Amino acid sequence: MRLNPEEVSWVIQQEIEKYHEDLSLKFESAGRVLYVGDGIARVWGLDDVMMSELVEFPDGTLGIVLNLEIDNVGVIILGSDRNIREQDIVKRTGKIASVPVGEAMLGRVINALGQPIDGKGAIETKEFRAIESSAPGVVQRKPVNEPVQTGIKAIDSMIPIGRGQRELIIGDRQTGKTTVILDTIINQKNTGVCCIYVAIGQKSSTIAQVVKILEEHDAMKYTIIVAATASDPAALQYVAPYSATALGEHFMYNGKHVICFYDDLSKHAQAYREIALLLRRPPGREAYPGDIFYLHSRLLERSAKLSAELGGGSLTAVPVIETQANDVTTYIPTNVISITDGQIYLESDLFYAGVRPAINVGISASRVGGKAQSKAMKKVAASLRLDLAQYRELAAFAQFGSEMDKTTQAQLVRGERMIEVLKQDKFKPISLSKQVMIIFIGTKGFLDDVPLPFIKNFENEFYLFMDENHPHISNSIEQSLDLDQKTMEQLNEAVTKFKSDFKLRYQI
Ligand code: ATP
Ligand code: MG
Repeated sequence: MRLNPEEVSWVIQQEIEKYHEDLSLKFESAGRVLYVGDGIARVWGLDDVMMSELVEFPDGTLGIVLNLEIDNVGVIILGSDRNIREQDIVKRTGKIASVPVGEAMLGRVINALGQPIDGKGAIETKEFRAIESSAPGVVQRKPVNEPVQTGIKAIDSMIPIGRGQRELIIGDRQTGKTTVILDTIINQKNTGVCCIYVAIGQKSSTIAQVVKILEEHDAMKYTIIVAATASDPAALQYVAPYSATALGEHFMYNGKHVICFYDDLSKHAQAYREIALLLRRPPGREAYPGDIFYLHSRLLERSAKLSAELGGGSLTAVPVIETQANDVTTYIPTNVISITDGQIYLESDLFYAGVRPAINVGISASRVGGKAQSKAMKKVAASLRLDLAQYRELAAFAQFGSEMDKTTQAQLVRGERMIEVLKQDKFKPISLSKQVMIIFIGTKGFLDDVPLPFIKNFENEFYLFMDENHPHISNSIEQSLDLDQKTMEQLNEAVTKFKSDFKLRYQI
């Protein structure tokens, strides 16, 4: 066989040309796994990696760089570490972790990385947003001026929340914290407000229950559920609230209103403590790392009411903290209390005594929401707060069964009735006008001669009576958001009529 030099040179030429085409060969910075275990990896050789950068393991699992040390970097693994071995190659991606955002996410259940886990197929979105971003500055914000209606009488009247506020829900386990959140989500129907519920470290069955309840009340349409369950790696539980906030920010910067519920931040802090200890960061108080305050402050600072130039959108944050034996003076609760603009305290004593929602209105507070409260509610709630405060003072004495003068007795009677009025079944949020009317009736003393066991019936039948016979009164309150003299007189008249009928019917 003879070689044809032309042919050989042609082949070589072709090969060289192809090689040029292939010069898209990139220089990639890569390192190797030194150690892997417990959801973290130590990687050697990623010299120029950025803090918080995403890195990729050979099986496609992603990780976030959290520690930059002299000769290696500490990476938290966002997924299972089962397929990662020592000596595996780890590639930089040059990107900071981000999640898909947009309208398409509404109605879906996703994990901390924005991937759907509800079995309803892929989510079509084009936009992404970094999970960590800096909070809006002072100039970009506006004071809170619109209310968030929770539909819960005790909250809307005495602990009002404003759009863009951060309001903490704090209480022991099984005191109705999640129920307050679900009520609030259900009450946002037809208001154009989007809700994001972040479940951190909860059981999958609890999350399934939440989804079921929201679906039953037709509330999933405007809700996103971000789930990092107890069985997910700590890294995902740590990332989940930041991802959810990124989802919310997208809506906020597009002029919409969002409420983000973090259920709960105690478990978030524990997940972060786990990561920090595994990365061998020095433990501080209660073994939490030194930057545990920053962990939550940088998260909650991102909620805001934006100025008109930026579209006037808002992101309201409602974090949850679980306490042990009502102790709010431990490390994480005090931190989060100091970051938020108010707290709703739920107490197991009240819960077991049948006062549900078990809100202790005496120590609960909202520091900015009052500015956003409607005039109608402001008018009736002032006397409600006074009635309850007087009742609390006297209730302790009343237990001794001592003789009491007339005024004291009257105050006790009023207080007991107001507490009864503020009780509310779960998943039954009440409109503003109904809340205003029932609190008006209570504080004006219409209920003082109705025996306690009849109060709930009175309330329910009164709503029906008003809807049927005097719809203009509630319409007027809803539209003007005020309770003017004329409406008040009409309301007075309507109640007097209803009450005499009611008394006859129940023979009291
Ligand atoms: P956990 O600590 O387990 O998260 P939690 O504080 O979130 O509990 P929930 O799960 O909301 O509490 O409520 C505990 C129980 O109390 C539930 O069974 C719930 O149905 C019931 N519950 C809560 N609020 C009310 C209410 N207003 N009326 C009747 N039942 C209620
Ligand atoms: Mg709960």
